[in-house]
Amino acid sequence: MPIIVQKYGGTSVGDTECIKNVARRIVAEHDAGNQVVAVVSAMGDSTDELLKMAHEIATDPPERELDMLLSTGERVSVALLAMAIHELGRTAISLSGNQAGIQTNTVHMKARITGVETGRLIEELESGKIVLVAGFQGVSPVEDVTTLGRGGSDTTAVALAAALGAKLCEIFTDVDGVYTADPGIVSDARKIDAVSYGEMLEMAATGAEVLMLRSVEYAQKYGVPLHVRSSFTDQPGTWIREEDEKMEKAVVSAVTHTNDESKLTLLRVPDRPGVAATVFGALAAADVNVDTIIQNVSEQGTTDISFTVNQSDLPGAQKALQAIAGNLGVAFLIDNDMGKVSIVGAGMKSYPGVAAKMFGTLASAGVNIEMISTSSIKISCVIKRGQVEKAVRALHQAFNLAKPA
Ligand code: ASP
Ligand code: MG
Repeated sequence: MPIIVQKYGGTSVGDTECIKNVARRIVAEHDAGNQVVAVVSAMGDSTDELLKMAHEIATDPPERELDMLLSTGERVSVALLAMAIHELGRTAISLSGNQAGIQTNTVHMKARITGVETGRLIEELESGKIVLVAGFQGVSPVEDVTTLGRGGSDTTAVALAAALGAKLCEIFTDVDGVYTADPGIVSDARKIDAVSYGEMLEMAATGAEVLMLRSVEYAQKYGVPLHVRSSFTDQPGTWIREEDEKMEKAVVSAVTHTNDESKLTLLRVPDRPGVAATVFGALAAADVNVDTIIQNVSEQGTTDISFTVNQSDLPGAQKALQAIAGNLGVAFLIDNDMGKVSIVGAGMKSYPGVAAKMFGTLASAGVNIEMISTSSIKISCVIKRGQVEKAVRALHQAFNLAKPA
């Protein structure tokens, strides 16, 4: 019997009525002759509410305890969902991440999945049960509960789909699929029918919030086809899969953006081998994810280095830089008012002039570019946060994304 893994996001299980709706969907899939594993997020905003309580009690709550706390949100959802399925006359069993065999490393709050022990899952499926797994969590080698980082239920679902050899992983959410830009900013943004893993990776990395980045990496690595769709309709959503001939190889498939970048500039850094390694080594050791980096031309043996981090990583970055700045004899500046706009498309690899068109469009819109970074299928510009929406609209129009390619 084919195995299908489904994932339902927080809004899809926002209240008990929504949970009953999800139960009906799962039962329909099961009754159609599939073995179903459903991964569920915490109800509505409950993860935020749990975090808020923790921060009302402690300024810097221990991460191990945060994981104990946050993991409960998903357990509430799966237990209620199991009851809803029983009400429909089918058998379901809810499992915590630990019970579902999801093993992780020991990095609390952003643990990585290291393996999935599928024995229990297969046993329960073989006995005819619908299996419900609490998303976003696992167990570390020292038997502590870990969580996978915000949005981590996507990664739970993809990891289970890969480990079980599922024929597909359906990600049910509160939007119809992946859009050519944020519909909240661009009124004629369009749902994309299919994108390649590579494009989706770039989109998730540059601000598309519909899927957690790591889940896309995982899906690509194990070739798990993903279908992102709404849990409130029966319409097809967006397929994410291997690039093939049938896929529209648009020069630009989407415009993405972020509003939470901080720029740090190190001034008068000695221009000698090993300095960049020291700086970025210290940031890596502090678990800070560095994004765009620019090193200026050096003058009189010193140079300025600027880089961006997500705002949430700023305190960690500051701490790490303070620890090494004295020794290197450098000062640093912080600009906390940055955003980023990106264009992504598999077709840009073989199409000249895309960067020029992007920069020209931003210039006409009066947007100043502070930093640029590229990959073979993406161009990103770091700009002032207040100009992000204007930039997204201008690029969406310039690259004709409102009309199907
Ligand atoms: N409940 C967690 C969060 O809100 C994980 C998830 O929804 O995937 O980030
Ligand atoms: Mg959530």
